[in-house]
Amino acid sequence: MEFDKQYVLQLVQNLLTTHSPTGFTDAVMEKAALYASQLGYHMERDRKGTGFIRVKGWDSSEAVGVCAHTDTLGLMVAAINPSGTLGLTNVGGMLIPTVDGEYCTVFTRDGRTYSGTVLCNSPSVHVYEDARSKERKIENMEVRLDEVVKSKEDAEKLGISAGDFVCIDTKTQATPSGFIKSRFLDDKLGVGVIFGLLKYWKDNRVKPRRDVIFYITVFEEIGYGMTGTFDYVTEMIGVDMGCIGPGLSGTEYDVCICAKDAGGPYDYRLTTELIRLAKDNKLDYAVDVFKFYSSDVTTALRTGGDLRGALIGPGVHASHGMERSHYNGVLNTMRLLAAYL
Ligand SMILES: [Zn+2]
Repeated sequence: MEFDKQYVLQLVQNLLTTHSPTGFTDAVMEKAALYASQLGYHMERDRKGTGFIRVKGWDSSEAVGVCAHTDTLGLMVAAINPSGTLGLTNVGGMLIPTVDGEYCTVFTRDGRTYSGTVLCNSPSVHVYEDARSKERKIENMEVRLDEVVKSKEDAEKLGISAGDFVCIDTKTQATPSGFIKSRFLDDKLGVGVIFGLLKYWKDNRVKPRRDVIFYITVFEEIGYGMTGTFDYVTEMIGVDMGCIGPGLSGTEYDVCICAKDAGGPYDYRLTTELIRLAKDNKLDYAVDVFKFYSSDVTTALRTGGDLRGALIGPGVHASHGMERSHYNGVLNTMRLLAAYL
């Protein structure tokens, strides 16, 4: 199976550098729709914003669903401080100490953007005794705007208000050694896997065994991405990041197959079949249990989806912080998905 590495890497980097915290995903979904149309598919959207790409298979009596999410963690202005800095609230479960010192962009509701830096509110060792020790929690963080702002009123005059999204620079890089490092690989790598597979099918005129509906969801990070009705979908495969760390066997080079997460065990037969396929196709793979994790597939089941669910994805190191993965993890995930579908 030959996948178009250049296509996948460029698409992933394009998505990664398009800010898309949960609730602010229109720009990235426009890009996803464009990528779909370039491959000859139409991406429909439901009212909530989920994208659907339908692919006809040889057998249309049932469909397999495959989901990945474009929404990411993010920040939002909670209040403007008297000094004109911006107090913050988090969108999703960002690892807050890692955002200390990060460059960011504030998006006002009237379409203006301003650059700034996320800092702890004891940001200088020459001034604050607790500069090193102050806990980097959201209540202690703020945005220093790159504008002449000396008061709350000054910030308001720029059009900034509570509720404005604050998007962090993702610092996206693909290295010659095959690593992809960036914030929010979770889950733009998963979306890359879906498009890489669609491109492979297109280039090689492959038609899947059964109909496939690809779901590009936009509310995963806050827990209600994959909800709704699932037509004739009998199985749902989530493509999302695999965990890496002590007690886990997955790496950045593997497709991770999650047997169980905080939402409970995934479907026994479907998971077993994915493991068999990984083995038979000599893929680099790992079967793991993710402790502090849940997925859109669990959301689909919890909200009444009558389907069998499984979860696979490339291993991502330092998740919800400064993440890194490797193209081989993406490739093994594309191969497993292609083999199954
Ligand atoms: Zn995710």
